[in-house]
Amino acid sequence: MAPFLSRRDLQFQLYEVLDTAALPSRPRFAEHSREVYDDVLNLAYSVAERYFANHLREADLHEPHVVDGKVKLPPQMEGAMRAFRDAGFFSAHHDEELGGLQLPWVVMQAVQAHFQAANISTSGYPFLTIGNANLLREFASEEQQAKYLTPLLEGRWFGTMALSEPHAGSGLADITTTATPKEDGTYAITGTKMWISGGEHELSENIVHLVLARIKSAPAGVRGISLFIVPRYRVGPDGQPGESNHVVLAGLNHKMGYRGTTNTLLNFGEGGETVGELVGEPGQGLAQMFRMMNEARIGVGMGAVMLGYAGYLASLEYARDRRQGRLPGNKDPHAEPVPITGHPDVRRMLLRQKSFVEGGLALGLYASSLVDDLHTGPEEERADTGLLLDLLTPIVKSWPSKYSQEALSDAIQVMGGAGYTRDSPVELYYRDNRLNPIHEGTEGIQALDLLGRKVTQSGGRGLTVLLERMSADLTASGDLEGVAEIRAALATAVAQSTAALRGLLAQAPALGPDRFLANAHSALEMLGHTVVGWMWLRQAAVAARKLPEARGEGADFYRGKLHAARFFAVHELPKVKAHADLLASADPTTLEMQEAWF
Ligand SMILES: Cc1cc2nc3c(=O)[nH]c(=O)nc-3n(C[C@H](O)[C@H](O)[C@H](O)COP(=O)(O)OP(=O)(O)OC[C@H]3O[C@@H](n4cnc5c(N)ncnc54)[C@H](O)[C@@H]3O)c2cc1C
Repeated sequence: MAPFLSRRDLQFQLYEVLDTAALPSRPRFAEHSREVYDDVLNLAYSVAERYFANHLREADLHEPHVVDGKVKLPPQMEGAMRAFRDAGFFSAHHDEELGGLQLPWVVMQAVQAHFQAANISTSGYPFLTIGNANLLREFASEEQQAKYLTPLLEGRWFGTMALSEPHAGSGLADITTTATPKEDGTYAITGTKMWISGGEHELSENIVHLVLARIKSAPAGVRGISLFIVPRYRVGPDGQPGESNHVVLAGLNHKMGYRGTTNTLLNFGEGGETVGELVGEPGQGLAQMFRMMNEARIGVGMGAVMLGYAGYLASLEYARDRRQGRLPGNKDPHAEPVPITGHPDVRRMLLRQKSFVEGGLALGLYASSLVDDLHTGPEEERADTGLLLDLLTPIVKSWPSKYSQEALSDAIQVMGGAGYTRDSPVELYYRDNRLNPIHEGTEGIQALDLLGRKVTQSGGRGLTVLLERMSADLTASGDLEGVAEIRAALATAVAQSTAALRGLLAQAPALGPDRFLANAHSALEMLGHTVVGWMWLRQAAVAARKLPEARGEGADFYRGKLHAARFFAVHELPKVKAHADLLASADPTTLEMQEAWF
């Protein structure tokens, strides 16, 4: 079986493109060293290989179902959770006083990448729990942290995020779940939440739901939304889970992929009272939840990358073995068939996958490194870092979600009929990844966020920072051999994107918001490809500098980077122009289409 992850590329991204080994110079990471990070990553690889990859297909074939009122999951999942817990990964990035290692977020994201690549649906439980605990760490009171955070960090209790309702997914302003104040300061929660991942299972002693609800008589819209901690089992004075909190499983959703992660319809306040505790102040719920969602959006992007990457590795291994046909120039019917990697069209599909998944990995880890810079980087740069991260987040979530799907389609195509069967994992990765453009805010919502909010936020400062950073890398790579094509293509894409955005923004008052945002999808595509082009320049520049000293496999690795960068420059970056033109013209075609004409 092909490896699920390229450890060499992960090392390249962390230590050669990013300067992760320099992080121990910051006070928070002073106890660390590169050896510490490598040990953690080695542990992640062995746990992922042994306890997560071992039931990838099983979790897909035997999806969650209810037996005697309890959700039944493949038995290997318990072992996976135990191994994850024993390795200390639930709390690894937290303060030492909380039992953590104070790992940088970029290393933590690289740790999680192993589990996403090995078995994305089983990794969903810790992924949600880590995000849930991070939110509580930031916004919950000391008393709430004492009650809920410790068991979450120990991996004894798991967490969820409960936002969506049957009638309110993208439009969270319309949620109707209600919180009625009680005399003791807690709230009675009533309502129904839809699509809640990890909403019911027996993998943990308790489940901590983070629920968005409206306090009775709160104003309409997002200003009236508050956040509540709602445990599955009420917590007794001894800190242990006790009686039921009446969060009732009303049904399991049967999904296309991600099947090992239970997905639930939950009723709150059915058959008894559901008690919730308010987090922070009323009306702050969505803003607080965005803390979890922004992080989750980078995590979703990384999950998409890892699925695409695993598919690429599987199809590459297959293609190297598979012999079929002869090259057009060879007319000898007795000649041996060639490995299919000999055919330019197969190379095109492999190169396209490589350029998407390695470009996406560079982007996801770069964004994760910005999370570290935001908290531990130079004080004077943090405001700019935050704005850049805000701007990039919708791209980091959406671009890999979409382009890993294309990469996985290519992976299936490379494998021919074999790729379409359950004997290979790529059809599963393809189904799993199809969720990523939907959850945590659909692609359409990310596009609106990017163009409608992030591009203009703080007077467009985030975009200026992005342009400055891209320009600095373009200048710094000016004299390097082998990067001319990616440099030229990126410079063109940057110029086209900037001109299109400036043109559109200048017309904004006359266009009005509906027409201004009508082609937001093109803004996402345009900036997404441009930013990934930049990620390729960064990788190519490192490869160009290291190649002269490299030998054998090491040299091939760098040559592969340079060639994939060239592919992205020549085959992909020219697509930026079509989106830039459409955006700048404020094309009204979609806006003018009438429902009756469909
Ligand atoms: C497997 C799975 C797991 C999930 N896990 C969770 C979870 O753990 N917790 C949770 O709270 N939710 C979860 N969700 C819900 C998920 O976040 C929503 O499905 C998603 O936000 C979309 O909402 P919706 O399904 O209601 O689609 P809709 O909001 O109805 O959207 C349908 C289409 O209309 C478009 N659209 C809607 N509004 C607009 C608009 N204003 N402008 C432009 N286009 C628009 C969307 O982009 C989409 O293409 C999960 C969903 C799935 C499928």
